[in-house]
Amino acid sequence: MIVTRFAPSPTGHLHVGNLRTALHNWMWAKKHGGRFLLRIDDTDGERSEERFVDAVRADLAWLGLEPDGEERQSSRFALYESRFAELVASGRVYPAYETPQELDLKRKIQLGRGLPPIYDRAALALSDADRAKLEADGVRPHWRFRLSPDPIAWDDLIRGPQRFDSATMSDPVVRRADGSWLYLLPSVIDDIDMGISHVVRGEDHVSNTAAQVQMFEALGAAPPAFAHEALLTGSEGKLSKRLGSLGVAHFRDEGIEPQAIVSLLARIGTSAPVEPVVDPAPLIAAFDFAHFGRAPARFDEGELAGVNAKVIHQLPFAQVADRVPAGMGEAAWDAIRPNLTRVAEAADWWRVIEGPVASDTAEDDRAFLAQAAEVARDIAWNSDPWHALTGALKAASERKGKPLFLPLRRALTGHDQGPDMAALLPLIGRERTIARLDAAAA
Ligand code: GLU
Repeated sequence: MIVTRFAPSPTGHLHVGNLRTALHNWMWAKKHGGRFLLRIDDTDGERSEERFVDAVRADLAWLGLEPDGEERQSSRFALYESRFAELVASGRVYPAYETPQELDLKRKIQLGRGLPPIYDRAALALSDADRAKLEADGVRPHWRFRLSPDPIAWDDLIRGPQRFDSATMSDPVVRRADGSWLYLLPSVIDDIDMGISHVVRGEDHVSNTAAQVQMFEALGAAPPAFAHEALLTGSEGKLSKRLGSLGVAHFRDEGIEPQAIVSLLARIGTSAPVEPVVDPAPLIAAFDFAHFGRAPARFDEGELAGVNAKVIHQLPFAQVADRVPAGMGEAAWDAIRPNLTRVAEAADWWRVIEGPVASDTAEDDRAFLAQAAEVARDIAWNSDPWHALTGALKAASERKGKPLFLPLRRALTGHDQGPDMAALLPLIGRERTIARLDAAAA
C-alpha cells in the first residue's frame, strides 16, 4: 500500500513550493491507488494558528488535492510520550543539561581549533549522582537522540544513493526542557504509525532524513522510501523571496486556474515537458521520480500565465458555469474560450454578443456594410450564417480577405480581433446583426 503525507506546519500560508510538494505526494498516491494524508504539524502551539489550518485545507481543496485522511500532531502527544519513553529506556534518547550559552561556547571553542562544531556528548558522561544534583538545582534537561556509529544510507528516489557518517553529526535535540517537541521525532513516530510508505519533501530536509533513518530503526521500523526534491527558484534562476509570498490567494487574484498550477508544478524540474491539462489523469499516469533532476526547478509566472490560457481554452462549460455572466451558455463559452487568458474576460466578450457595440466605420466601407445588412436579411440563419453572409458578400462585392472580413468584424463586434466570427454570429443573431450593420453603414 502506497501512503504519502503532506505535513505543513500551520504557521503561515502555503507557498508555491509547498503546493508543489503537496501535489507530488498526491500524484504518487493516486498513481498507485494509495492514500494521501494531510498531517498538520502543529506541535508548536505558540506559532500554529487555526486560520492557517483552515487555509491549508482550502488551498488543497481548490487545487483538487483532496486528502484521504487528516491527522493533527497536537492530538497525538500521548503516542509521542510513550514512544519517547521506549527510546529513553533503551538509551537511544538521553537527557542533556547544557544551557544554550554553554553550547554556544563549546561550538566557538571547537571552531577556534578548526574542529567541526559537533555536540561532544558530555551529558552521556554524567553519573546518576551528577544528574540528581543538577535536577535538585532546578536544571531541567532537554533530550537528545543518540546516533549510532553505523553508516547511514538510503537510496533516494530522486537523489540516488545517499551516505552520511554519523560521526560528522551532532546527536539531535528531539525535545526541549519544557517538554515541547521538535519536529524530528514526532514526524518519525507518525510516519511509522500511519504506515507512510514514501516521504516526499524538499531537499532542505536531507540532513534531517539522515538522523530520522536511525530513529526509524531505533523504533523498530524500516524507514520509508524517500524522495527529496530540488527546491524551486524564481524565473531569474535565483532562490527568490517572492516565491515565498506566492500562494493560492495570489494565483486566484491573477485569474489562474487550479489546473494550470497542477499542470505546471507537476512537470517543472523534471525531464518531461509541461502539458496544460484540465484532467490531471495523464500527468498522474506518467508521474515518476526518475524524471526529476537535481537542479533547482524554475518557476516562472510568465510560463504559468501561458499554461493558464491553454487550460482555459480546454475548460468545459460545466467547470465555469458559476463564474460566467448570467445568461451566457455553453455555445457562447465554447465560442469565446479560445480568446481568453482568464475566465473573467468572458464577460467582455459576452458584452460584445449582447451589445450594444460601438464601432467607427471608415468612409469607404459604408456602402459595403449597407450591402452586408441587405445580405444579412436574406440569408438562412439556422446553420452557418457567417459563411452564408461572407460567401454571398464576396460574390456581390468583389471584396475578399481582409477588406471583406475586417469591416464586418468591426461593425459586428467593435473590435479588430476576437473569437471566430463563425462561432460568434449565431450568438449575436439575426436581429442584432442587421441592426449593427445598419448602424455602421449609416
Ligand atoms: N512540518 C515539516 C515541514 O513543513 C514537515 C517536513 C516533512 O515532510 O517531514 O517542513
